[in-house]
Amino acid sequence: MKPAAFDYHRPATLAEAIDLMERFGDSAAAISGGQSLVPLMNLRLSPSDQLVDVSRLAELQQTRDLGDSVFLGAGLTHAMFEDGAAPDPANGLMRQAASHIAYRAVRCHGTIGGSVAMADPAADWPAVLLALDAAALVRGPMGERRIAMDALLTGTYTTSLETGEIITGFEVPKLPADARTSYVKFNRKVGAFASSLAVAVRQGEALRLVLAGAGPRATLLAATAAAFIAGAPKTSVRNTLAGEVALIVEADDPYACALHIATILRAIEEIS
Ligand SMILES: Cc1cc2nc3c(=O)[nH]c(=O)nc-3n(C[C@H](O)[C@H](O)[C@H](O)COP(=O)(O)OP(=O)(O)OC[C@H]3O[C@@H](n4cnc5c(N)ncnc54)[C@H](O)[C@@H]3O)c2cc1C
Repeated sequence: MKPAAFDYHRPATLAEAIDLMERFGDSAAAISGGQSLVPLMNLRLSPSDQLVDVSRLAELQQTRDLGDSVFLGAGLTHAMFEDGAAPDPANGLMRQAASHIAYRAVRCHGTIGGSVAMADPAADWPAVLLALDAAALVRGPMGERRIAMDALLTGTYTTSLETGEIITGFEVPKLPADARTSYVKFNRKVGAFASSLAVAVRQGEALRLVLAGAGPRATLLAATAAAFIAGAPKTSVRNTLAGEVALIVEADDPYACALHIATILRAIEEIS
């Protein structure tokens, strides 16, 4: 199917892009790699008919060392992380995750910013960035905001971005060399979104455990992480996990619950 008619704008600067987003309001959509937006347009599921191309904005391609964290521009593609062309402050976790997103053609165009703004419940970047306790930097008509990932992801395909706002990048904390990470993705075929995705980041006695592909958004499993770190017996950790998963999985779906429990337990095993 072909999309409905739309206007295409290619601003030269971020300021110009924000002006366009403000001018067209709810009819405007930023387009980065187009890997999610264009299929939605073809299916006539996108209400936007004013596309503001942010894929060539220099500001969104930048990376900066901020001391304890690294700024990663929203326009960096999955392939740049996979190839090591973008910094990975998470000791290889970001590179590992990027290489499991879709297939190479999608990875060459799709961006970290587009993925997070899309907020697919089974997407890789929202889960990884939440596990890393990253924050998004956002610019819009009202100025700049810094939004923690947990506050940015509000539900299925929804975020707390306001009309006209563009994600410029992410502040990702640097992990120390002795931090342990795990990324466990189960999908039914190579290149598909996760049926279940577990991401774990452990720094000493601090553990961030994230489940995606279950429920409306990537979710921190705080009770399970606390039980594990407190040294609870394995059966007790598993029971806590089963309770948290049951709260997230919306339907009565024993297969999905068993799958999510398995991916999370494997991730815990890997950071133990
Ligand atoms: C066959 C296929 C398989 C896939 N498999 C996976 C997978 O396994 N895992 C996974 O995580 N993803 C997967 N994806 C999605 C892919 O990663 C997309 O690249 C990504 O979701 C969207 O990134 P994009 O840069 O293409 O964004 P676009 O398609 O350009 O935009 C997506 C949305 O984000 C908005 N947007 C884009 N950039 C910005 C910005 N800077 N600020 C604010 N809003 C913005 C757009 O307006 C739009 O609403 C798959 C896609 C395909 C086609």
